[in-house]
Amino acid sequence: VTAILYHGFYDGSEPMTAGRDRLRRQCEWIRRKFRPVSVQGALHHLASATDSSSRPPLLVTADDGDPSLLEATGVLREFGIPLTVFLVTGWTDRVDEGKPFTLARIASALYWYSGPARVLEPVQGLTLALHPERRLQAMDALLQHPAAYDEEGRSRIASHLASLEGNPKRVCSWSELRDLSGPGVEFGSHSVTHCRMARCSPIHLRFELAESRRAICDELGSCSVFAYPYGTPDVWSPATTEAVSAAGYRAAFLTESGLASARHSPHLLPRLVVPDNAIRGAAFRALVQGGKVPLERLKQLASHLAGRS
Ligand SMILES: [Zn+2]
Repeated sequence: VTAILYHGFYDGSEPMTAGRDRLRRQCEWIRRKFRPVSVQGALHHLASATDSSSRPPLLVTADDGDPSLLEATGVLREFGIPLTVFLVTGWTDRVDEGKPFTLARIASALYWYSGPARVLEPVQGLTLALHPERRLQAMDALLQHPAAYDEEGRSRIASHLASLEGNPKRVCSWSELRDLSGPGVEFGSHSVTHCRMARCSPIHLRFELAESRRAICDELGSCSVFAYPYGTPDVWSPATTEAVSAAGYRAAFLTESGLASARHSPHLLPRLVVPDNAIRGAAFRALVQGGKVPLERLKQLASHLAGRS
């Protein structure tokens, strides 16, 4: 199974129509060469050796909830191409103005704090130290303290934190995502804070997996698949994979290049990353059809080998 990953669908430097036309050409080509499938279809294909279809299955995914989804989803629907969107719930919570500070949003603000080191006023005996290099300790302190699970406690932490909230990526709001939902669009989790999971403590790991899943189920109906933030080999470990499976996810995706096959654990499936910039048609086709290594990487390897001889 070829799984591809978009972040933004359009390059911000070009007119929207140029981006939409490019996506349309990509979709046309995908329809000619592949059989677009949902996660369910991809897992089914991996589990059953018998597949009579001549065209190989392809799964389209999008991470983070970029606002370009608002346009792109319509294009994918036009071509009957299913889409799985992986959301960072602490970022999504932040977009809805007027929504009270959820624990997810507090956690995301703590995790992404980038200002000078400082200590927040204690709340119910919880003292949170903000420090870019000690954010994991702050997360553990938060998640282990009853104030985090108490509405009054959360609103007091939030009042100290609100003005210090960093500026994470702009993403779609829950109501925008609800408008996108429907046939062919599935939502999965991409954690609460977009953290590097292999570095998280067990309580933090459980929070990232369970709380994001709960929020997506509540807001959008269901959530049974996960995509590791960053998705590179350093962000997962046997412990994270076990936690992902224990949290009830039936599949999880990385960003390691390659084709998903029956030899992969369903909780460590590779995806090909489509670059955010205005990728040309030939480069897109080489990336998706090559299935293994992006062209740039092949060039690097070739020059590396040439240098060795
Ligand atoms: Zn991401």
